[in-house]
Amino acid sequence: MSSPVTRFAPTPSGPLHVGHLLAALQARRVADELGGRCLLRIEDIDITRSRSREWVELMYEDLAWLGLRFDGEVMVQSERFGVYAAVLDQLRSLGLLYPCFCTRSEIKAQIAEMGRAPHSSLGYLYPGTCRHLPPDVVAERLARGDAHAWRIDMQRVQDLIGCPEWEDQYRGVQRCVPVEYGDVVLARKEMPASYHLAVVVDDAAQGVTHVTRGEDLFEATHIHRALQAVLGLPVPLYCHHELLKDNAGKRLAKRDGARSLASLRAAGYTPQAVIDSLHAALANNGIWQA
Ligand code: GLU
Repeated sequence: MSSPVTRFAPTPSGPLHVGHLLAALQARRVADELGGRCLLRIEDIDITRSRSREWVELMYEDLAWLGLRFDGEVMVQSERFGVYAAVLDQLRSLGLLYPCFCTRSEIKAQIAEMGRAPHSSLGYLYPGTCRHLPPDVVAERLARGDAHAWRIDMQRVQDLIGCPEWEDQYRGVQRCVPVEYGDVVLARKEMPASYHLAVVVDDAAQGVTHVTRGEDLFEATHIHRALQAVLGLPVPLYCHHELLKDNAGKRLAKRDGARSLASLRAAGYTPQAVIDSLHAALANNGIWQA
């Protein structure tokens, strides 16, 4: 049995907030309880975000201020596009990817036309317009340099791997039905690897055995499980924890700057006071009151 490894994997889309702190503490706690390691991974694949660097710097400051400790080397996703490209090639050679030339507004219009379009809890499913384009049309459009994304054909995935299981520590064994999640995008020009692809590749590369993350990603785990099955990667145990909420019971949003760690620090909170407030919130149905 490999030694236990957890990870904290923030996306630098803004300053770290108390929800991130909860995720980081969960990852650290599970690693400590199991006598394992807790790694840090920066999920900065969205190269269109101009302030990413700035948020990463601030993140390191926040983590140092909190005294949070991570083990081993930090993994930075923006340094790994070559690795993701190789995995995309592997999926392409298995005949599981197809280029999709639809713009967002075209997809919206296609969905509107369909009336009751199929959707999952992650949103509307791509209607499949480009799934069976004739090969000569695809070749011509690619040669012409038409903008496109790469989608995974979930029907083919399901034909190949069936409906694999995964386990959530709190909710038990789950069964993934790949077609229920639609042909998700795995790469596009301005984002050469999607979150789904990078997270699966990197959890395996880092030897992560226990994925602790918020329950907002519970559904996404089905997609991750399907990718693991196709790529022959190990399957971690998942622990989706509850999310922090505001007084109205609504999930704390990232855009809510008042709960950023930097603003709490500026307001004179000590790290211990922030952590105590977090524990108080968890004891109160996840409602953050500070
Ligand atoms: N990067 C994601 C976030 O900041 C978390 C990804 C994960 O834990 O799998 O929300």
